[in-house]
Amino acid sequence: MGKSSMKPVLTTIISSLLATSLGFATYSASANTPDLPKIGETAGSTLSIAKEQQIGDDIMRRIRRSEFLMKDPIVNDYIQHLGYRLVAANPDALGRQFRFFVIQENSINAFALPGGYIGLHSGLITSSGSESELASVVGHEVAHVTQRHLARRLEKQSELSLPSILGIIASVLAATQDPEAGIAGVAATQAAGQQSIINHTRSNEKEADRIGITMLSAAGFDVRAASDFFETLQQSSRYTLKPPEILLTHPLSRNRIAAARERAELYPKVTHEDSLDYTLVKSRIRSKNLLHDRAAIRELEKKYQQDELKSPEERYLFAELLKNSGNSEQATHILSQLYEEYSGNQLLLFSLSEAHLASGSGKKMLPLLEEQLSKTPDSTKLILATSEIYLKADQANKAESLLLRYSDVNQNNPTYLKLLAKAQADSGHTPEMYETTGQYLLLLGDLRTAKKHFELALHATSKDPYAQTRIQARLEDVRQQIRAEISEQSQR
Ligand SMILES: [Zn+2]
Repeated sequence: MGKSSMKPVLTTIISSLLATSLGFATYSASANTPDLPKIGETAGSTLSIAKEQQIGDDIMRRIRRSEFLMKDPIVNDYIQHLGYRLVAANPDALGRQFRFFVIQENSINAFALPGGYIGLHSGLITSSGSESELASVVGHEVAHVTQRHLARRLEKQSELSLPSILGIIASVLAATQDPEAGIAGVAATQAAGQQSIINHTRSNEKEADRIGITMLSAAGFDVRAASDFFETLQQSSRYTLKPPEILLTHPLSRNRIAAARERAELYPKVTHEDSLDYTLVKSRIRSKNLLHDRAAIRELEKKYQQDELKSPEERYLFAELLKNSGNSEQATHILSQLYEEYSGNQLLLFSLSEAHLASGSGKKMLPLLEEQLSKTPDSTKLILATSEIYLKADQANKAESLLLRYSDVNQNNPTYLKLLAKAQADSGHTPEMYETTGQYLLLLGDLRTAKKHFELALHATSKDPYAQTRIQARLEDVRQQIRAEISEQSQR
């Protein structure tokens, strides 16, 4: 998507963010809620982890509502795995929650929000030169979270008002793409001043680089990738007046590149080979960008006819383009060839299932999916693909029980919740369907419709005291958020 076509959409989002102010009143430093114990923090004004989480959750709900959030389950699954691999290599990250997400935007950027939410622009993934380079940026952002760089800056604000929260969102979603357009759109909220909230100081950057590289090494990636990526960034800014967005929030000095290179020398040299999933995810993102690019599709078609599409990433790119443009039969053909060559690859299996589903032959995939699922029962990709096919094949009960086995780890996965609600509806489990739909809507920040669904669920489970207690708690949570929203509105 070109930048010019982005602008009107952005303006709409920014104005809708302004119009629907949510409950940030509770964030003021003098909040009248009782102080939570500040575990592991020094006494004083440090923003508690619980409060930081609350702010992060609210920001995330707004981002989920925007069309910029990439909802593709494959891309999300990949980035979670990459992120967790790095988090697991950092003892300071133990016990903290991390969530990784992708913003559909071709520019190169990454950022850490309060509450362990780490966002990557899709352009960062496609322009990374290797998986280690991508991991170096993710590791750097994880370090900003573990060192509480943003949290420390937030606590300095005497009052975390709605404008400052909107400033963060605006700087994440808009100002980074086109500083002028973004800032003009939120001028009323003094976003120009607030944009600096997510910018990091040089000493923060140094610390995040140092910790990031330790993580990179411990997770088995090539530590030289950090300085490689800095060089890529510098090269790309050499020919344009506007530097890559990541440099606006993470200042890059000559010093920083040299330091990264010197530090890498201290670690044993490791050659990390890119995973197949990394290259396929890049193709999957590209296929979304190229969807309306007829010339690019024709070019690939020509190469395919002449048997010149050799690499798996090129063939996958072509198959995805075919699938997304309605030619699922041909896509199925290419994907099954690929799966034969890389059998057991779950990303390819998922994509093949999608193609079969699109051409109405999803049922054919069930034996293969069930077999793979028995080998790796907790694979989110396989669970989603299999239950979707069960649903299409009128086996809603099977879909429901498969999905329910993994409800704990998927409470924040909108794709999962949507499928579960459908499975519960089709199995005639209406009260459960109301509750799941409520959770889904709450996740997307639609508080009032979520409340309605929880009320319906409560009414429908009147004979089940256990369910009543659980739903009452959900209702109380959503009511509290609505009250906070109303109180915020009356203050403005
Ligand atoms: Zn940084």
